[in-house]
Amino acid sequence: MNILILGAGFGGLELATSLSDVLGDEHCVTLLDKGEGFVFGFSKLDVMFNRATPSDVFHPFRDLEKPGLTFVRATVESIDPVAKRVQTDVGPFEADILVVALGADLHPAETPGLAEEGTEFYTVAGAFALRDVLAAFPGGRVVVGVTSTPFKCPPAPSETVLLMHDYLVDRGLRAASTISLVMPFQIPIPPSPEASRALFAAFAERDIEWVPERMVTALDTDRKVAVCSDGSEVPYDLFLGVPVHRAPEAVTTSALAVDGWIPVDPLTLETAFPDVFAVGDVTSVGTPKAGVFAEGQAAVVAAQIIARIGGDGAPVTYDGRGVCYLEFGRDLVGKVTVTFLSGEAPTGGLEGPSEAIATDKVAFGTSRVHRWFGRQWAVG
Ligand SMILES: Cc1cc2nc3c(=O)[nH]c(=O)nc-3n(C[C@H](O)[C@H](O)[C@H](O)COP(=O)(O)OP(=O)(O)OC[C@H]3O[C@@H](n4cnc5c(N)ncnc54)[C@H](O)[C@@H]3O)c2cc1C
Repeated sequence: MNILILGAGFGGLELATSLSDVLGDEHCVTLLDKGEGFVFGFSKLDVMFNRATPSDVFHPFRDLEKPGLTFVRATVESIDPVAKRVQTDVGPFEADILVVALGADLHPAETPGLAEEGTEFYTVAGAFALRDVLAAFPGGRVVVGVTSTPFKCPPAPSETVLLMHDYLVDRGLRAASTISLVMPFQIPIPPSPEASRALFAAFAERDIEWVPERMVTALDTDRKVAVCSDGSEVPYDLFLGVPVHRAPEAVTTSALAVDGWIPVDPLTLETAFPDVFAVGDVTSVGTPKAGVFAEGQAAVVAAQIIARIGGDGAPVTYDGRGVCYLEFGRDLVGKVTVTFLSGEAPTGGLEGPSEAIATDKVAFGTSRVHRWFGRQWAVG
């Protein structure tokens, strides 16, 4: 069997590892990615706030060595889900089973003014560049804002304002600064009222302004104001933006996409095309766009593929569960366990925040690096 995985992010790495662990070199697993390595989403905040260096958090794909697995650096240009054939910049690939794990692309240029300001913090390049921008920031009005939905890791903007507070305190700039958070939701984490209450308390303690139920549609860079979807304006000296998300073009131009994302069976993650699966941010399965959900879905697809190849046992189905770590600053981390089941309202409770959960989060990262890349990782 030729199993072709498109995208070596959270979902693709977990899937490739699970398949190699069980199938060994009995079948060929090919993993394609256009990049040179992997960076956890949460590591972007670590670099931006000077808690780690870019090289600390970069995991090169050249370290991927597993039985039956071949990694190929290639950009996917088009996908034919009927023929299970993929065109790339290094030639075509054909598969018996195809899995699309290409994530979501980010488009800062689609929000007028955001590319000019150059201060989005969701791409690796954007977050890493902000490290120097923050170091040179003399204090002033900081606005963190979301420009469209859906967006990855919905708690990340809330974490960013809390970490920004600590950063400005440490630099002696907090008294000369204000911090505002512009979000499309009524509460910070809609599936978890408990986590949202804890965040509201943290915002109030730190004098962080919550600007709900609107998005930033443009930046007027001359007047230095963020223009919001309800017509209101929020003045800024430093704007940190969550850019527009879209599925990669190879997906949106394929027969797989419906309304811009890939619909899948919520239990099996199979698309409308037989033997073609999709996991993670590129799907419209209904879970948040986050690594933990991509990973959980990848484990289910691995079980589905293994059962299909071996013909034994009823494969595992997806339970919509994910554990999200939530940075409160000062080395305190909370843990939100959320369950998204099709047709039911999502639910999620909060544990912590505590130093013990901060240690848990480090172990979460290091265990994935060890499992996927076969090496130790000292920074989490
Ligand atoms: C600031 C921030 C903080 C975050 N914090 C967390 C967190 O604490 N916990 C959490 O669970 N999630 C977090 N996330 C979200 C998480 O990073 C993503 O949701 C997760 O990586 C999605 O996994 P994925 O496999 O679907 O896609 P990705 O991990 O994005 O992988 C997609 C891969 O596809 C490749 N690719 C894309 N297009 C092509 C193409 N045309 N050809 C070839 N390769 C291509 C990309 O290079 C990439 O490697 C955070 C995100 C951000 C931005």
